[in-house]
Amino acid sequence: PKPQRLDQILFSQGFGTRRLCAGLIAHGEVKVGGEVVDEPWAEFDTAGLTFEVAGQVWPYVDKALVLLHKPAGYECSQKPKHHPSVMSLLPAPLRERGVQPIGRLDEDTTGLLLLTDDGTLIHQLTSPKHHVPKVYEARCKHPLTGAMVEQLLAGVELKEPEGKTPGKFQRPPEVSKAEGAEIVDETLLRLTLIEGKYHQVKRMVAAVGNRVEALHRPQFGALTLPADLAPGQWRWVASPADVWGQ
Ligand code: URA
Repeated sequence: PKPQRLDQILFSQGFGTRRLCAGLIAHGEVKVGGEVVDEPWAEFDTAGLTFEVAGQVWPYVDKALVLLHKPAGYECSQKPKHHPSVMSLLPAPLRERGVQPIGRLDEDTTGLLLLTDDGTLIHQLTSPKHHVPKVYEARCKHPLTGAMVEQLLAGVELKEPEGKTPGKFQRPPEVSKAEGAEIVDETLLRLTLIEGKYHQVKRMVAAVGNRVEALHRPQFGALTLPADLAPGQWRWVASPADVWGQ
């Protein structure tokens, strides 16, 4: 790729309008290779480029892909109703460039949430066609039984989502099948799904006569939640290949 102007580079990475970016640079807020660059027209090769803005280091990325340890009490929707959005946990440049969650976790669910500004990747990673496993750990109200696990693996009819009244027209029941289901301890269920229907784990567990009391997602595709990433913290994912697993 051909070298780009530094103000253009900052603009593409979510640091505001081109004019604002030029201003940041002219004011000496931007470093490349450890040196202040105060000329907005200075050109750099973007491949492997890192730069500093107000003392923080950023990699140049064509598309942003990050993983967040989602805490309870945050909503994945863009226009949250009752709780702050997960977006508020990310720095402004990532929000500015239009990063969005890849699938959704409920407000009370914790664990690994991916976010990107790559629409194609969102589509691919959420489509059941691509068989990307998502692993959930559900703390259940009642002791788990082998029969429950067998039913989850065979496929269950989902209960209507709570709070949704049945429509005027009869819809065919939604059927969901777990790719994997194991009892971890008396009330902890580990479930692997390749789809992401609304409240899917909770509705599947309800369908076998149990109830989810707490839900956590430790794994998405080949990525596992890093043990040293505290709730509310995020980090870069080097490449989508890290999610696909090759
Ligand atoms: N299934 C649910 O019920 N909730 C989630 O947040 C994710 C999967």
